[in-house]
Amino acid sequence: MTILPRIAVYAGHGGSDPGAVSGGLREKDLNLAVSNAVTGILRGWGYTVINNRTTDVDRSITRDANLANENRVDAVVEIHFNSNSGTPGTGTEAFVSIRNIGRSRALASAMLDRIAALGFVNRGVKTQLNAQGQDAFGILRLTNVPAVLLECAFINNPADMARFDTNTMARAIADGIREVFPISGGGGGMPSFPGTSIRVGDRGESVRQIQSCLNRVGLRHPSIQRLTEDGIFGPRTFDAVVAFQRIFGLTPDGVVGPITWGRLQQECPAGGDSGSGGTMPAFPGTLRLGARGDSVRQVQHCLNHVSQPCSRQLVEDGNFGPLTQAAVINFQRMFELTPDGVIGPITWGRLAEKCGSGSTMMTFLSGDGVPWEACTGCTRHDLNSFLKSVQEIENSNMGNILLPFLLMRKFVAS
Ligand SMILES: [Zn+2]
Repeated sequence: MTILPRIAVYAGHGGSDPGAVSGGLREKDLNLAVSNAVTGILRGWGYTVINNRTTDVDRSITRDANLANENRVDAVVEIHFNSNSGTPGTGTEAFVSIRNIGRSRALASAMLDRIAALGFVNRGVKTQLNAQGQDAFGILRLTNVPAVLLECAFINNPADMARFDTNTMARAIADGIREVFPISGGGGGMPSFPGTSIRVGDRGESVRQIQSCLNRVGLRHPSIQRLTEDGIFGPRTFDAVVAFQRIFGLTPDGVVGPITWGRLQQECPAGGDSGSGGTMPAFPGTLRLGARGDSVRQVQHCLNHVSQPCSRQLVEDGNFGPLTQAAVINFQRMFELTPDGVIGPITWGRLAEKCGSGSTMMTFLSGDGVPWEACTGCTRHDLNSFLKSVQEIENSNMGNILLPFLLMRKFVAS
């Protein structure tokens, strides 16, 4: 299954609050430059990124924390630069919540290791408490997802500032994020449309990319025959393109124009460095209560995506506890599998299928009925508000194509 992480990348301070100021540098400006650069790098890899600000405006810690919680992001990284009085300090450090949420510590140390590799002193991962014994930093106190407040370097230390470069700092941070929250299972993604339609008789790298993507999609849709990835657009590739177009409701003409290419891109997002050769991860063996590890985390992530908008979100910590078991049983009920709470090959296969295209929204737009299925496990209250949303949108007469999208947005917002 493809795991597409959602990351909140926040810039500390802003607008009327400059943060630390030293030697003509304002912390809010450095924070923003790094945050914007990290965002660009992550989006280029296929991540979903949300920001608190992308320009020099005031921020609200409460609003930013709510934004991360409501979007159920995989992690929050808030960018700051350090400052102290007296002899300037030096190096990079990171703060995490005392509640030790998910992989926040792992994320903090991965980023610090990468920044230290640029020559900065590694001051380590820390916590800081207020007088009430809670996290002193609001973003750590008010979020319930893994969050890291990163102090990249000391703004009042000329040696740190001489070493600092926005892009290399941003790359180090993004690499740390990718190490702990990788896009997995995707293999190579489709690049952008090459400019001209691709058809029978064509040869080359674009054809090979199409074949590779079709083979990946074919793992979930057996009507697409397995292809030799030789870069030659012959009759078998033609047949596979037509099958793909039929599955996704496109004109089945066997020509890969911009629309078919775009759909291939959606189905084959960039896969980072997983090197999986275009196959879904194999069934890892039976997973049940008490199991631990990355396979469990993948299952939790998938369940969180598939079960939106109705189910309680799981903490994606890789521990197969009672809540994960309950979510597995719920999932099995939704898809008419034996509801035993154990992930054998059949349940795994169904999870892989449901998370294969990576995004619940896409599944919703493909119209295969998942939002309805997802709601069979809801409480009465959830279901009622869901149905009310449907009614309101239908009454507002906005058209069938937009309906699932609006429905999703409206439901999530309510
Ligand atoms: Zn700051």
